[in-house]
Amino acid sequence: MSGAHLSEEELQQYILDRPACTPEDIAHLDGCPDCQAQVAAYGLLMEGLSQQPAPVFGFDVSAIVMGQLAESAERRVERPSWWATAALILLVTAVPAWLFRKSAYYVFTDISAVFLYLILAAAGVFVLLRVLHLIKRYQQIINIINK
Ligand SMILES: [Zn+2]
Repeated sequence: MSGAHLSEEELQQYILDRPACTPEDIAHLDGCPDCQAQVAAYGLLMEGLSQQPAPVFGFDVSAIVMGQLAESAERRVERPSWWATAALILLVTAVPAWLFRKSAYYVFTDISAVFLYLILAAAGVFVLLRVLHLIKRYQQIINIINK
């Protein structure tokens, strides 16, 4: 490629992989101030690029991931207690239901109003606590996402 200036690719190759350049290209470069100026400019550019710090996230990724892991581990611990609660509810309802199966009709007709409201209030409190727990967890997750 004597006579014409070196292409962009040839100039970059001269900087990055000098032994791979053809003797004609090197001979042209030795006698051409224009191409030498281009090589110097490319050299500065590549030096600048290599000195750039590695890009980093604007937030702490490891903290978020560790938080998620801790939370999922917490959830794994929480699961047996949930199953225990379900088993307890089943036991508490199934055993009396089986014991009083013959008088079940009278249980629901002769039940005192106070006792019925007590059961309804307990169920209401339980549902309310579950809903509050759910809202709290939802807010925690939203806070983690927005952090
Ligand atoms: Zn040239």
